Amino acid sequence: MNAACLYIVATPIGNLSDISERAVQILKEVDLIAVEDTRHSGKLLQHIGVSTPMLALHEHNEDKKVQQLIEKLSLGKSIALISDAGTPLISDPGYQLVKAALSADIKVSPVPGPSALVTALSASGLPSDSFIFEGFLPNKSTSRLKKLESLVDESRTLIFYEAPHRIVACLQDMQEVFGAERKAVIARELTKTFETIKNESLENLITWIEADTNQQRGEFVLLIQGKEKEASTVDKEAEFILETLMQELPLKQASQLAAKITGIKKNTLYQIGLNKK
Ligand code: SAM
Repeated sequence: MNAACLYIVATPIGNLSDISERAVQILKEVDLIAVEDTRHSGKLLQHIGVSTPMLALHEHNEDKKVQQLIEKLSLGKSIALISDAGTPLISDPGYQLVKAALSADIKVSPVPGPSALVTALSASGLPSDSFIFEGFLPNKSTSRLKKLESLVDESRTLIFYEAPHRIVACLQDMQEVFGAERKAVIARELTKTFETIKNESLENLITWIEADTNQQRGEFVLLIQGKEKEASTVDKEAEFILETLMQELPLKQASQLAAKITGIKKNTLYQIGLNKK
């Protein structure tokens, strides 16, 4: 075990078998484990046979505890940070600690594992090449709507965490902003007994979840398909010119020439050419 290292260790989001071998080994070998809740993490540590001492680090004492942890690290101790579930710092405490450790020239090493957002995205059927994660939306509907409105033109897949008591209201706000037809996914209780992944229009998702209160229980990731880019259209003649030039020239030159002939922007023609390839 390297001394004076802060390990950021991901833990399961439901299914305890998802802990990695390396995570178990590091949690056994470090001098101390910083946890969000000693009772909650105590159960996981007992399950995997780890008896390393714990120290509570949560959002209400993070400032105070960070200093203590940095002092221990500076004395050469190794510390692991875990949260109640998934990857620390992802809608969980730890950012202050990582920042302070780096400023004190202490090594920070990640031990990767589950995170609900990536787990949900991987099975959602929504585009995964480009996405944004917004964490939890504001509790109050007015602020939530405002936040959602700022995302209305976003073309990347949008990912949110949501609590069960707000799930219906949140979906209704999403429908108001993104429209009834926008595709969305409810990813509920991932890796657990009642895991449900439902991919539908926002309107159908609301009908479905309202009809079955059991579907309103547990932990949720909500994903919204990004806004579809409007396809540029040009008249048939311009398209014919572009296509003819593309048979003889690389797309860049073909769209430049077609732009000169037709007066249409070369970027528009380039995009159309890309779709034709
Ligand atoms: N650090 C965690 C991670 O890496 O995903 C997230 C912690 S955040 C406080 C907890 C939220 O994550 C839940 O309210 C829920 O939105 C989401 N979440 C966590 N576990 C989940 C699961 N098994 N299924 C669906 N969502 C989950």
